[in-house]
Amino acid sequence: MTDAATLVAWDHRHLWHPFTQMTDWLADEPLVIAEAEGCTLVDTRGRRYLDGVSSLWCNVHGHRHPALDAALREQLGRVAHTTLLGLGNVPSIELAHALVAVAPPGLTRVFYSDAGATAVEAALRIALQYQQLRGETARTRFASLEEAYHGDTLGAVGVGWSETFHRFLAGAVTPAVRLTPPHVFRWQRGMDPEAALAAALDAADRTLATHGPTLAAVIVEPLVQGAAGMWIHPPAYLSALHALARRHGALFIADEVATGFGRTGRLFACQHAGVTPDLLCIAKGLSGGYLPLAATFATEEVFSAFLGPYEEFRAFFHGHTFTGNPLACAVGLASLRLFEEERTLERLAPKIARLRERLATDVAPLAHVGEVRQQGVMVGIELVADRGRRTPYPPAVRIGQRVVRAARTRGVVIRPLGNVIVLMPPLAITPAELDLLVDVARDSIRDATE
Ligand SMILES: *Cc1c(COP(=O)(O)O)cnc(C)c1O
Repeated sequence: MTDAATLVAWDHRHLWHPFTQMTDWLADEPLVIAEAEGCTLVDTRGRRYLDGVSSLWCNVHGHRHPALDAALREQLGRVAHTTLLGLGNVPSIELAHALVAVAPPGLTRVFYSDAGATAVEAALRIALQYQQLRGETARTRFASLEEAYHGDTLGAVGVGWSETFHRFLAGAVTPAVRLTPPHVFRWQRGMDPEAALAAALDAADRTLATHGPTLAAVIVEPLVQGAAGMWIHPPAYLSALHALARRHGALFIADEVATGFGRTGRLFACQHAGVTPDLLCIAKGLSGGYLPLAATFATEEVFSAFLGPYEEFRAFFHGHTFTGNPLACAVGLASLRLFEEERTLERLAPKIARLRERLATDVAPLAHVGEVRQQGVMVGIELVADRGRRTPYPPAVRIGQRVVRAARTRGVVIRPLGNVIVLMPPLAITPAELDLLVDVARDSIRDATE
């Protein structure tokens, strides 16, 4: 292996890191990961760190899980890649069969791609074409939640919203119709959760009364708006929005790229509300966090609208070169099997409860913690300059970065979303590691804010 210092020099000379101010990056000694095991990352100098955000929300069963490694090696002994354009391949068929068995009932079709954004793009395009195919030609727009994040391709950016991300793109994307979720801390100050839910539904009712006939679909991150800062809405909001979309003739798209594969405590977040969306997007955890793999589920009703004689060109003319990659699908299948064999979700429940307790006793009372939000193993700790007034820290303070820095010196890797500290450990985290994660979060927040 190239030595650690040379790697740093080459990284600084040649790489352009995503979502990163490279001025800061270049001024700093980067942490370079060389290997990992379980929930532990090991850098090029042999230092060990707890992977506190699941390598950006995707690792599920831990790194280098023997069953996943074996599935990958085994598939490598057969073939690494063949196309799904005009051909089938074994792992993509087996995985689709297994996915449909565990998905919300009624989602029977699997369209593969390779990233969260591409799963969302496929869903948006399926929705648009579906509406056109059934003669609903006015349905060319989408509705989405305030501060939604659905990925970084232009279509996905159009249904998302963040002032910082959109600053240079606003003119090039079609903005979505915005719905305001019942996020008590941010939007409905002073309201209790019930009143906030009622207000949000009332507003959605009015918005859809106006824009309903122009909507191809409503797209939602169910239960947790991750990139917004772990905003959480109740299952009742999800089921009400689903019913509302239905009533107005729009499809309902669930973006479970972050929430899928157990992160909320159930395999899919929609299952907390008993909702079957028309389209459901998965990516991050689909391959256990091993390889780029994504899928868009569709109902038979949506799928069948695309059927017809070839010369009518109703087919879904869309796809990516590495669609249904056999290596990634083989690992995905092995990961799904692990959920059963290791009873991953059953064993997760007490960890979620433990996390809730520890956050309440150790983190929520801290002087600069405005709110702690948790759904399953997805946690957002919102830091505020003034707790009483909920005054945010100014960006120049880089409070999130400061906490992350402090955590790193204590052997934990986390990544903030602005002023929100995110904890999102792999589902396989041990109780002892979970305690370490909360201890380090508490001490690092104290360090950075006092
Ligand atoms: C991460 C994320 C995406 C984008 O996934 P990529 O694989 O980075 O393209 C889309 N939607 C949600 C909800 C996400 O959290």
